[in-house]
Amino acid sequence: MRNEAHGIGIVGAGQLARMMIEAASALGIDSVVLAAGPDEAATQLAGRVLVGSPRDSGQLWALAARSEVVTFDHEHVDLDLLASLERAGVAVRPGARTLSMGVDKALMRRTLAAAGVAVPAHALLDPDPESAGAQAVAFADTYGWPVVLKATRGGYDGHGVWPVANPAQVAVRCRRAADAGVTVMVENHVDIDIELAVLVARRPSGELATWPAVETTQVTGMCREVLMPGRVDAALGERARALAEQVAVAIDASGILAIEMFAAGDKLLVNELAARPHNSGHWTMDGSLTSQFENHVRAVFDWPLGPVAPIAPAVASVNVLGGPDGGSPVARLPAGLAVPGAHVHLYGKSSAPGRKLGHVTVCGTDQADVRERAWRCAVALGTPVPAGLLVAP
Ligand code: ADP
Repeated sequence: MRNEAHGIGIVGAGQLARMMIEAASALGIDSVVLAAGPDEAATQLAGRVLVGSPRDSGQLWALAARSEVVTFDHEHVDLDLLASLERAGVAVRPGARTLSMGVDKALMRRTLAAAGVAVPAHALLDPDPESAGAQAVAFADTYGWPVVLKATRGGYDGHGVWPVANPAQVAVRCRRAADAGVTVMVENHVDIDIELAVLVARRPSGELATWPAVETTQVTGMCREVLMPGRVDAALGERARALAEQVAVAIDASGILAIEMFAAGDKLLVNELAARPHNSGHWTMDGSLTSQFENHVRAVFDWPLGPVAPIAPAVASVNVLGGPDGGSPVARLPAGLAVPGAHVHLYGKSSAPGRKLGHVTVCGTDQADVRERAWRCAVALGTPVPAGLLVAP
């Protein structure tokens, strides 16, 4: 019989929901997802599947009625609706206010700056494309070219992030954004030395567990590999962890909070927050004593968190992407699993070129060695190799 009392309700049914369900299932917790369609990654594993829009009040209430705690696979949600659920006594974790930091980049920048956290210089632009263009050009005159235009809402994997080098490019982008009804902000183009991420698990009652900082590598905005520790030395790692915990407390996180940062010279800037499990933490499934997904489940139920120490000095996690031939990584599993020490996680998604279909993690003692093996496995599963990232597949 299903354990009704401990059901977890998840808004969204992508791979993050799927891996949350794997962790919940190991704890004997039932799950229900609100999926956009019947074929999403988590629908194959969920105890119950509701199909509908997360912006639909009826669907959200149906999810809440079937779960003890409501949490999230993504943040494409109606924050007012979530706030009304909270007011009615539903345990929504994280709550609407915390979630809004991952929904609206301009609000997140403002909130963090007010809390004394360093963020890239930025300005919100007018809806009118002519005045937005003029504002962005004035900003670039102050901070220098190029600048980065960003959609304040709805961006992911580099969609909605547009580096622009001159006023003509600014004008084109602002016009397109206005036509699409997208609000845009401008920020200075940071000369990044290292992109890093820190994951914090936080219970509503306050307990925190913070994994070591990792180095992430993005190609055209999409995360391709995560290295623990990568080029993050002990001093930088400690600064990053302390900053991440400051942010988690400042925005009252519950569950996992992922904090993406830029190390630039002696500065450490917060670029992005995700108030849910995150790609930069997939390594924890095989490389740390407790995975981000298990600690997310523990945290949203306000249960004691598991220890987060790494199990090895070096960990590498590489995303499995669909190759140009559209072949399934499942068909190539024996070749991938032949790579020594490779842990493979596939999300049950249909293959398409460039689509995130899974990830691979290798743990060991030498960073270059685990990285090479993780890539070898990902390539054996059909992942295209980004130019310039790798020595030899
Ligand atoms: P999203 O995660 O929504 O795709 P991000 O803000 O994380 O958007 O941007 C994606 C990537 O673009 C970052 O990981 C970074 O490589 C690059 N980027 C974003 N903002 C800046 C900036 N201000 N300066 C330089 N590079 C940036």
